[in-house]
Amino acid sequence: MIEILEGRKKQVYEKSGDAKIDMACGKASLAGAVSQRACVFCGSRVVLYPIADAIHLVHGPIGCAAYTWDIRGALSSGPELHRLCFSTDLREKEVIYGGEKKLQAALTELIAAHRPKAAFVYATCIIGLIGDDVQAVCKKVEAEWGIPVIPVHSEGFRGTKKDGYKAACEALFRLVGEDTETPADSGPAINILGDFNLAGETWIIKEYYRRMGVKVVSCMTGDGRVDEIRRAHHASLNVVQCSGSMTQLAVMMQEKYGIPYTRVSYFGIEDTAEALYGVARHFNDPAMMERTEALVREEMNRIYPEVQRYRSALAGKRAAAYVGGSFKAFSLVKAFRHLGMPTVVVGCQTGSQEDYEYLQEICDEGTIIVDDANPLELSRFIAEKEVDLLVGGVKERPIAYKMGVAFCDHNHERKISLAGFEGMVNFSREVYGSLMSPVWQFSPARLRRSASGKEEQDGSSNSKKSLAA
Ligand code: SF4
Repeated sequence: MIEILEGRKKQVYEKSGDAKIDMACGKASLAGAVSQRACVFCGSRVVLYPIADAIHLVHGPIGCAAYTWDIRGALSSGPELHRLCFSTDLREKEVIYGGEKKLQAALTELIAAHRPKAAFVYATCIIGLIGDDVQAVCKKVEAEWGIPVIPVHSEGFRGTKKDGYKAACEALFRLVGEDTETPADSGPAINILGDFNLAGETWIIKEYYRRMGVKVVSCMTGDGRVDEIRRAHHASLNVVQCSGSMTQLAVMMQEKYGIPYTRVSYFGIEDTAEALYGVARHFNDPAMMERTEALVREEMNRIYPEVQRYRSALAGKRAAAYVGGSFKAFSLVKAFRHLGMPTVVVGCQTGSQEDYEYLQEICDEGTIIVDDANPLELSRFIAEKEVDLLVGGVKERPIAYKMGVAFCDHNHERKISLAGFEGMVNFSREVYGSLMSPVWQFSPARLRRSASGKEEQDGSSNSKKSLAA
């Protein structure tokens, strides 16, 4: 059995009685532990790249540009400039003599060719080392072309993925409030923050708000547009999903424009309903509240029987979830509960002490709660807790398959919408599809459990489970 590294022990907790969780979170990853966390640059790119009418230029070696649209997709209803991945492709020459000239030439060529509404320039590790003055180059190009050219200070080694979110929020904040000419619309209006429209989620959420009678001024950044962000200061509420990534922007907008914010999750039944009710409560409009109640009722009537059908086959299976943000982890624990599946391992990359306390509250006895995990730890917990299904992203998928357990993608690579009420049905279907695959009967873990008679006792054998009629 793999030992937990000494320096990691304070970031792993097993729920036991009332013992208070004291997570040593929010710090740099332990050197050598091979953290699952992404770098600062990745954090900022995740947040900014769904802005579809901007150029996204990665200033650094070509390897950093690997986070392309193809593996971190975000849908757009209009322009698709964000699907192109640009890099200055720095080589030895620039590392020695500096990359500013190459950056300026690349920006000039790209802006002339694509006529974007703005350009974001991401500084990567090497830029921090060689000391290119990215800000000065951006300023110069901005003056020449008359569009915002925004440096994103996201040198990978500067901190954690969370620092990348912060860098992205600072870049976005530069745009917010720039449009001083368009007058504000009347009526309740919000900004949606922290949804990236990976599989059309932003559209689902926007439609809910339309049905409630709430106008959406801007989506940051799913299906995002530069002009909408420039008008975002006209909203009267910021609704922040995925608390880790964009709370910082909401705080800055509250301080500068007096716009309050609320933190929500659109994953799972309760959290989606609570997100919508929370917005309706904020506007204190009885008619809006009635429309929201009708919406929730209608959606629940539509999806609940199907979710129950999946539950009939999935109940008793053990789930593990390792995701980026804590709000997604909360929602997953609740979503699995709807499917009758206990979450036996749960963790995230960017949680705070407060987040882990809440996770402790909603998790069952014996659940392992982990901050900033690594592949070896996850493998150990999967084996120890006899996990049947792991939820995670691209870096967790091979861990699950190597361990012979089912996997559900709940990250940037997914192509199926998991948000909102219909997202709960899609999620149940995904979990069912993966868990019930006949391939798992050949997995060593399943064979061991089968041989020990455990599957018979806990009823987790796939062969016996099928959907209720
Ligand atoms: S910014 Fe640094 S850590 Fe991030 S991908 Fe590039 S080289 Fe790697």
